[in-house]
Amino acid sequence: MQCSFMEETKINYQKEQERLLKQLVEAGEKPTLLLHVCCGPCFTYPFELIKDYFKITIIYNNSNIYPEEEYHRRLNELKGYLKAISADIEVIEFDYDNATYNKDLEPYANQREGMDRCRLCFRKRLGQAVDLAEERGYDYVGTVMSISRFKNSQDLNKIGFELAEGKRVKWLPADFKKNGGYEKSLDIVRKYGLYFQHYCGCKFSIRATKEEL
Ligand code: SF4
Repeated sequence: MQCSFMEETKINYQKEQERLLKQLVEAGEKPTLLLHVCCGPCFTYPFELIKDYFKITIIYNNSNIYPEEEYHRRLNELKGYLKAISADIEVIEFDYDNATYNKDLEPYANQREGMDRCRLCFRKRLGQAVDLAEERGYDYVGTVMSISRFKNSQDLNKIGFELAEGKRVKWLPADFKKNGGYEKSLDIVRKYGLYFQHYCGCKFSIRATKEEL
């Protein structure tokens, strides 16, 4: 009996990134990168890994986060960490608008994390990042979110590449959790005593976390 479907081939985006970084070194280039960051903890190790290869600007556009105090808490934690490591990096902040953001997510309110709601959530935030990067002439655009064990790197990169297709700006492939990246980020979080949230961000993920407890 023949199998009626073929499993999609998984791409090792960490290796893709390694290849790119090697090419940049060989070419003697240090391109600009607009890096989407969702919170301080997720920024830690990815930044350590790529900081010497790019001129980095951060975009913080996370209206998925609920409630508003949490949005500012994560942003302030990120800024505090930048200060603690003496990283002079511009942070481009978007206005907080959770009500509008949630209208698109509501139909998927009851889904588990990692399904269509999250793919839409990635597309919304990364779409803004790609558009801004293109508009302002950045060479690369990417996100730190693949550091999380709960974020599907195949989805993140597929969406990123799709969004950047046909544009001048290029998507930065990444799977930061690989090679012990997730554990390394936790070490930095502990070292600096960073606030580490226990839910992804949206109000639906708070509910799911409470139900799991
Ligand atoms: S669980 Fe996280 S990624 Fe998924 S929709 Fe909520 S905030 Fe977005």
